[in-house]
Formats: sequence, C-alpha cells, structure tokens
Amino acid sequence: MKLLRYGEPGHERPGLLHEDGTLRDLGVVIDDIAGEHLTRAGLERLRRLDPAALPKVAGEVRYGAAVGRVGKFICVGLNYADHAAESGMTVPDMPVLFMKATTAIMGPDDTVVIPRGSRKTDWEVELGVVIGDLARDVAEDEAMAHVAGYVVINDLSEREFQLEHCGQWVKGKSCDTFGPIGPWLVTRDEIPDPQALSIWLEVNGHRHQDGNTRTMVHTVAHLVSHISRYMTLMPGDVISTGTPPGVGLGMDPPQYLKPGDVIELGIEGLGRQRQRVVAHERDRPAP
Ligand code: ZN
Repeated sequence: MKLLRYGEPGHERPGLLHEDGTLRDLGVVIDDIAGEHLTRAGLERLRRLDPAALPKVAGEVRYGAAVGRVGKFICVGLNYADHAAESGMTVPDMPVLFMKATTAIMGPDDTVVIPRGSRKTDWEVELGVVIGDLARDVAEDEAMAHVAGYVVINDLSEREFQLEHCGQWVKGKSCDTFGPIGPWLVTRDEIPDPQALSIWLEVNGHRHQDGNTRTMVHTVAHLVSHISRYMTLMPGDVISTGTPPGVGLGMDPPQYLKPGDVIELGIEGLGRQRQRVVAHERDRPAP
C-alpha cells in the first residue's frame, strides 16, 4: 500500500494512493497515518479495505509528511563509505546515530527555508524506515518484522551549525523545514529488497547524488536491530539511513543551497519530492 497524508499543514487527513492512480480518503477509517495504525495488525486492517469503496479525493492536493505524530526522528551518519570519504571522515565500526528534531518535519514538496544567518545549507537524499511494531533489543533476523515501510527523506543539513557550532550534529540537522518526508509511506511488502533501490537528488536539474542503497555500510535490518539495543523503537518512529555521495559539502569548492534553488529527489518505488528554497525572512533584503 501507498499511504499518505494530504491537506493543509497541521490539518492533514490520512489517505491511500489506489492502484488506479486515484487518491482515496482514509479519514473515515482512521484518524492519521500514525502510531498503532502502522503495526502489523493496523496495516492488515487497512489492507482488507476495498480502496474503490473509499471516497475519492478530487483535484490538486498538498501532501503532508507521510507519517504523523513521529515520536523519534533518528538519523544515521556516514552510512555510505563513499559519502564518508567525501566528508573527510572514516567509516566507523558501528553506526553513527544522531537525532533530528521532529519540528523539522514537513511535506515532501513544501518550501525549504534557509536558516537565519546560514551560509552552508546542504542536501542529503535518504531512505527512511518507518517502524511498525515496537522493537526493543531485537535480533537482526527479526528486525524487518518491525518495519512498517519506507519513505523518501531529505536530511537537510547546515554544515556550519553541524560541524563548527560545538557539540553534536543535532544543531545542524534540526532547523525548521529540514525534514521533508514522503510523498508516500510504501509498505514493506511492496519493497522486497530495500538494499537494491536507486536513489538520486538534483539541484536546479543538475544531478548531484546518483546512488543505490546496495552500497550502504549497515543494512536496514542491522540498523533497526542495532538502534533497538539502545532505545525502544515505537510505531511511527522514523530512521533516516544515511546519504550516498554527492552532497554540497563534498564538492570542490563546496556548493550550498541559495534562495531560488529547486531540489528534486527520489528513490525507486517510493516516489519523489520537490522543494523550492527561500531565504529566512530576517535575511531577505528590505523591500
Ligand atoms: Zn543524513
């Protein structure tokens, strides 16, 4: 299934993309694409519905983040060896973890705002994993049973905040608009092998990232198992699994986002995102 959220920010309704291409409203069945509705039992209930019997949504809609009420937004750093190299870092033995504030989450095609005073706002296309059933210290061979599905994520990053403002990466990862998720949550059954997906990102039509999830250092199954050793993963938690090479930081000289840029990104089978980039309101020239 392709599950989604549509409508105005803060007022999204749950929906489903039917195989015939029509958008169907799920608001008559569940309150949100979130929490218990993402467990195996919750998804099974949705699977038994007849999409053709659900109300059809007509016309243009705004897509919200594909998952609601995200409790934890966990990110993995340096999970593609060639991206670690371009960042001037070595691949660590164990996954590098950091958190992204959930207030950074927005719809897949919403506008990216360059933070106030930022000079180094960068892009990172990533495969996102959405947790279904609660996972607490699960073994790697059991981990996938705890995955509800997958999403496209742009892990937008401010490199100066991340690397030069002391402390943890969280400062450079958590700004408002730095977490587009969607357009859809594609359930696990539709993606038999998450380690064989092409993944790409373009800025103003120029392709900067063009990779495949097969070159991940730590697989989805390993990441879910590993992270669940340190914290309990809850339904609707999101794990962003790291970015392939081609970020602005790795270019010579580095190239960062500027007002007016358009970012487009996608992953095979999971849809695509498109974001326009604008200056922070306090950094715009006076009219
Ligand atoms: Zn990242």
